[in-house]
Amino acid sequence: MRPALLDPLFAPLNSLPGTGPKAGELYARLLGRETIDDCRVLDLVFHAPHSIVDRRHQPGIARSPQGVIVTITGRVDRHQPAPPRTNQPYRVFLHDDTGELALTFFRVKGNWLEKALPIDETVTVSGKVDWFNGRPSMVHPDYMVRAAEGENLQLVEPVYPLTAGLSARILRKAVEAALTRVPEFPEWIDETLMRKQSFTSVHDCFLALHDPRDETDIDPQAPARRRLAYDEFLAGQLSLSLVRQRLRKVAGTPVHATGELSRPVLAALPFSLTGSQTTAIADVLKDMAGDERMLRLLQGDVGSGKTAVALMSMLAAVEAGGQAVLMAPTEILARQHFATLSKMAAPAGITIDVLTGRTKGREREAILERIASGETRIVIGTHALFQDTVVYSNLLLAVVDEQHRFGVHQRLRLTAKGISPHMLVMTATPIPRTLVLAAFGDMDVSKLTEKPAGRKPIQTVTIPTERTGDIVARLRTALAEGKKAYWICPLVEESDVSELMSVDERFQVLVKEFGPKVGLVHGRMNGAEKDAVMLAFKNGEIRLLVATTVVEVGVDVPDATIMVIEHAERFGLAQLHQLRGRVGRGDEASTCILLYKGPLSENGRARLSILRDTEDGFLIAEEDLKLRGEGELLGTRQSGTPGFRIASLEAHGDLLEIARKAAAYIIDRDPDLTSPRGEALRTLLYLHRRDEAIRFLRAG
Ligand code: ADP
Ligand code: MG
Repeated sequence: MRPALLDPLFAPLNSLPGTGPKAGELYARLLGRETIDDCRVLDLVFHAPHSIVDRRHQPGIARSPQGVIVTITGRVDRHQPAPPRTNQPYRVFLHDDTGELALTFFRVKGNWLEKALPIDETVTVSGKVDWFNGRPSMVHPDYMVRAAEGENLQLVEPVYPLTAGLSARILRKAVEAALTRVPEFPEWIDETLMRKQSFTSVHDCFLALHDPRDETDIDPQAPARRRLAYDEFLAGQLSLSLVRQRLRKVAGTPVHATGELSRPVLAALPFSLTGSQTTAIADVLKDMAGDERMLRLLQGDVGSGKTAVALMSMLAAVEAGGQAVLMAPTEILARQHFATLSKMAAPAGITIDVLTGRTKGREREAILERIASGETRIVIGTHALFQDTVVYSNLLLAVVDEQHRFGVHQRLRLTAKGISPHMLVMTATPIPRTLVLAAFGDMDVSKLTEKPAGRKPIQTVTIPTERTGDIVARLRTALAEGKKAYWICPLVEESDVSELMSVDERFQVLVKEFGPKVGLVHGRMNGAEKDAVMLAFKNGEIRLLVATTVVEVGVDVPDATIMVIEHAERFGLAQLHQLRGRVGRGDEASTCILLYKGPLSENGRARLSILRDTEDGFLIAEEDLKLRGEGELLGTRQSGTPGFRIASLEAHGDLLEIARKAAAYIIDRDPDLTSPRGEALRTLLYLHRRDEAIRFLRAG
């Protein structure tokens, strides 16, 4: 049970002022949740300001620099209302020892200014000063208070990340209200570390987080941020340790591969495995043969052939009399894996099924029955694989493709079902060791370092959007020669349709050019529609596929040889690399055209040229990390380290190491978190929403 202490923080966000129905959607977007119902007060408490407005500069009227925010205290001399029926502003003049300032207001209604700025009153105003013809003015001051109340003026204000439509003032009100709900927490960090790191209480850190006094308080190294980052790492490491501890209790079932299924399948493959595929398969077989559960990460660049490794691993589980699942992040991918794997595994003569959220009605019943009876040996699907209604007969191996799209949750859900299959996690993103550690804890790693033989390099060019016409002309020739091409547009939210050409519009334009051989697929289409389009592209009815990034991960159409990416400057490097990896999969030479909208920033130019110069995913990832930080590397849009709100591996790497040791120490001494400090740590886990791990305590 969540400690009652946390109830005020877990209250719905819309219990705060200014978060009514209209604003709800905005807050949900701001906080990265589906709907306002998923937002808690807590989410705002963790919503850290990214900069400050500094109003401490008080140079006096005459010495106020142009365009800089200043705070001025002066006496109101006169009001000059706007002449009726004109567009002229209402002006209020005040002076201090150095000069006279005009406060300028447009479209003033009623007499509120007379009340706010009475003649002869000394007032403090703050805003930007504009100089025109030697006279200073301040248009719509941000603040105006009577000097007597001037102390109430906050001279340094936090500035928060916002979302279009949400006003800074309203957000700040809501944050202030949220802060009043922050309780005093029992301390979960031991005294020695508190002293050594000069940490203060969590309560105080939350308040300090939102009350920056100067630039240094915004820095990731600000004491309050460091403490909160440490807490976040500690919660993460602790929950991983609890899970691992639990996993260790449930011994793995040793899997002894006989080779009777994999042998015929291997023999029928149209290629021979690369050296690193063979090594990776051997790693997996060795792990699974032991009594400990396998927890292995398979890293391999796009096109390196991870699917074949997955299949051989799954066949081993089947040979041992068990079942295997493969979980993909999207419906398209699940269906595609199903198609590919069914074909590859045909010589094994086993039942393979696909189960996604879209599998409904009688079909679903039948599949669930086959899975429960053990008739189905391999199931491929999405999250749906781990719903409560799915009961396995003897699940020995779970393969998770493109792990970084999942939380740790799915893994936990599986284990919570009381089954403990071996686990193989596959990703195309070369995740740095530290990130692996933070996100998954200790994991063994296999790497696919070679590309399958016969691959031709992809020629990559960068071209400004002004030359889109040339590209269309080149496409015409290519399509006439029977080639296949992708045309990728950035994912378009309705709000920025005006800025970018939407994928729909691009589709219309290309249909006009090329007719019915153009297809369209995007995330807002339903699954069946997407499948139909992908299938048509695969079998060639569609030869030019206009798409958003739904094709980013793993889609395999080997004879597609042209990739056009529109607004390439909008994408992360890793994402561009993934997209490019959709071509160059067959034995034909391929081209990738990065259309960019200029002018490019220096950084933007550097990014695109890295991509032009290399196809090495590891190198690209490293450069990406340097240029953009970790968030982008994992293809997430938030800044900072994915899965963390305050902590960043770049800034707080030292703390991760401390947290890891602390977690190990705690689990060693108090594995069930029953001591007073253990109780406090439970609160920490809830606070950082890592409480799924607590279930393992109860389950014993
Ligand atoms: P990824 O690692 O991106 O998931 P896939 O498993 O989809 O890569 O493989 C990419 C393509 O390479 C597929 O068409 C697959 O059939 C092919 N492939 C896999 N292994 C080899 C190999 N050893 N030799 C030649 N082609 C291979
Ligand atoms: Mg793949």
